[in-house]
Parts: sequence; structure tokens; C-alpha cells
Amino acid sequence: MFLEPHFKNQRSGWIEVICGSMFSGKTEELIRRLKRARIANQRVEIFKPKVDTRYDEQEIVSHDRNQITSTPIENSRALLMLTEGADVVGVDEAQFFDKDLPEVCEELALRGIRVIAAGLDMDFKGQPFGPMPHLLAVAEYITKVHAICQHCGNLATHSYRLVSNDAKVVLGEKESYEPRCRTCYQMGNILDFNPKQKEEKAS
Ligand code: ZN
Repeated sequence: MFLEPHFKNQRSGWIEVICGSMFSGKTEELIRRLKRARIANQRVEIFKPKVDTRYDEQEIVSHDRNQITSTPIENSRALLMLTEGADVVGVDEAQFFDKDLPEVCEELALRGIRVIAAGLDMDFKGQPFGPMPHLLAVAEYITKVHAICQHCGNLATHSYRLVSNDAKVVLGEKESYEPRCRTCYQMGNILDFNPKQKEEKAS
């Protein structure tokens, strides 16, 4: 469990990253930290990219419907303008932001802000996702959360796509993805044992 670092007279802020596969509880962990910051009377602002309109324009909504009000923004540079006076800045779905996000987060940290970014570390192809690798490199604290593999019950690190579609972003994810461990993810890709995908290929 991540506990907030406590630095007396610390002049600069820092960057925390929460990463993992789909259904790993990234957003729940982000919300948990932001709520604790609010309890500590910190001024908290939350942002997400405009692309993520899965459930709701204004709310960050995790899969268990735990929610918190957020501002959708067009690009990461907007964070520099919108975070005046904030103590803590939350960023959800960080993988969908542009390549400037790590630099922007570093600038916010230098201004004394605690930045907490949550995002997918890998896309459905198992490749590092958007600005996440760079963000992970420059962060002070990294938490990798895990889902449970739906095939074998081990810890899941990969997001396996159940539908054949090459687009990087497929919304409506409950039907489209499942969390898998490395081995079951690889088996799925090689043997194509998923019945849904087999049906699609056959038709
Ligand atoms: Zn597995």
C-alpha cells in the first residue's frame, strides 16, 4: 500500500505513477490517493484527456463506479494553465495524452505540486503505451497494480483484446478486453484459443 511521503519544508513537488493492465484498479488507487489528499485539506485538481468519454464527460469513473469530478482537457500543455494554486494534481488515462505529458508533469513538480498520474503501461499489443514509458522514467514513485488473469488466476499484466480490430483505442472495454498473465496472453496470440475470436475469424 502506497503511503504519502512526508517532507517538512520540501520546496519541490514530485511525480507518482500508477500503472498496470486494464481492470487492475489503477483508477481506484488514484481516487484513493486523491481522497486522502482532500482529507488532508490539500487543494486537489483532476484531469483526463478528452478522448476518454467511456462513461461520463465530467467524472473520473472507475470500474466499480467509485467516482470523482474531473476536467477533460485537449492536451497536456493545458495542465500548466489550469493548475494554478493546486497542491495535488491527478491525471487519469495518462496513456492517451500527447508526448509532452512527462515534461509538463516535471514542470508541475518543480512548481511544488504533487502529481499523481494513472495509466496503462502497455497497449493490447504488449507495447509501451504513449507517454507512459517516459513518465515512468522521470517519476519519483511508481506503483504497478495487477488484475487477475481470467484463464489461470495468476497476476495479470497484459490487456488481451477479444475482438479483432487493429485500432489502438477500443472503448466499451468490458466486452472487448480481458486481463491476462504473460503466458495466457502469449498463448492467446499464438493459439488463438479464444472462442470469440475464433468465431469471428471463421465468419
Ligand atoms: Zn494466466
